[in-house]
Amino acid sequence: RAKGAGRQRYALFDEQLHKAALRLLEMEGDLRRALLRQEFVPHYQPILDLADGHLVGFEALMRWHHPERGLAMPGEFIGVAEETGSLEHMDWQVYERVCRDIPRLTRGQAYTTLNVSPRHLRAPDFDQRLLELMSRHEVKPANVRLEVTEGALLDQPELVQACLGRLRQAGVLTLLDDFGTGYSSLSYLQRFPLHGLKIDRSFVTGLRSGESGGSSAIVRAIRLLADSLGLEVIAEGIETEEQRHQLRLLGLQQGQGYLFSKPVSAEDVLARYFDAAS
Ligand code: C2E
Ligand code: MG
Ligand code: MG
Ligand code: MG
Repeated sequence: RAKGAGRQRYALFDEQLHKAALRLLEMEGDLRRALLRQEFVPHYQPILDLADGHLVGFEALMRWHHPERGLAMPGEFIGVAEETGSLEHMDWQVYERVCRDIPRLTRGQAYTTLNVSPRHLRAPDFDQRLLELMSRHEVKPANVRLEVTEGALLDQPELVQACLGRLRQAGVLTLLDDFGTGYSSLSYLQRFPLHGLKIDRSFVTGLRSGESGGSSAIVRAIRLLADSLGLEVIAEGIETEEQRHQLRLLGLQQGQGYLFSKPVSAEDVLARYFDAAS
């Protein structure tokens, strides 16, 4: 009897595996079609100066604009895209759009950041390809910044270091995303040509008034570390006025979050931040 139940369980497991594999295959096909139809577009989340609220830039975040299913968020498709090797192609589709949008959206000293998937930085021609794309759209290097994660720095660090170094030489600065959540050693902050750190949302969420320990201790430590290394700091995921206030007290200068705005389409950015006529 036990044997029979075991066999049954295996059959069930088999069936579930089979279904999961089918879903993956289906998703892979969906992503490929979506690439051809150019359904991957950037939305933009403003990054503000926390003292006076002026706009310092935007983060470009990928959205999948499906004709029937509507807007899908990265959490729903980026894992599969990365596994199947589609993410780099999707990234280029988004970067192309961003470069087309930048002349309208990013003026003066403002910048727009691009999220860079780990594999990109090890491609021998990533920097050249990006600079070519930018010059094709007459985008100034100072108006573009890259966001890389600690994980992206771990594999083949010499290649990554050289790539980011060439980009900095050309005027494109790099920020370390989700800082504090990875497990790389702090020596990475010196080794790679970084311009700034983005403090992960998990630390911002934990900020409370009058609290001396926990998240505020971590944010303070990150700021001190960044100051001594000459790095800028940007706080992610600010949702409340209290969090903005605490971050200001801790000396943070820049931040983004739902308190100010969710990521929105280029058209919404234009309507909100710039005179539509100009
Ligand atoms: P990330 O780069 O750390 O982006 C920040 C995420 O936090 C975004 O989620 C953003 O919408 C969300 N967020 C911003 N403010 C708040 C807030 O106040 N509260 C909360 N709860 N969330 C907030 P999103 O757009 O879903 O992107 C998730 C992740 O997907 C990104 O994390 C990034 O790792 C990846 N990603 C997004 N766009 C791209 C892209 O174009 N290329 C690549 N390779 N990865 C991307
Ligand atoms: Mg990011
Ligand atoms: Mg981030
Ligand atoms: Mg994050």
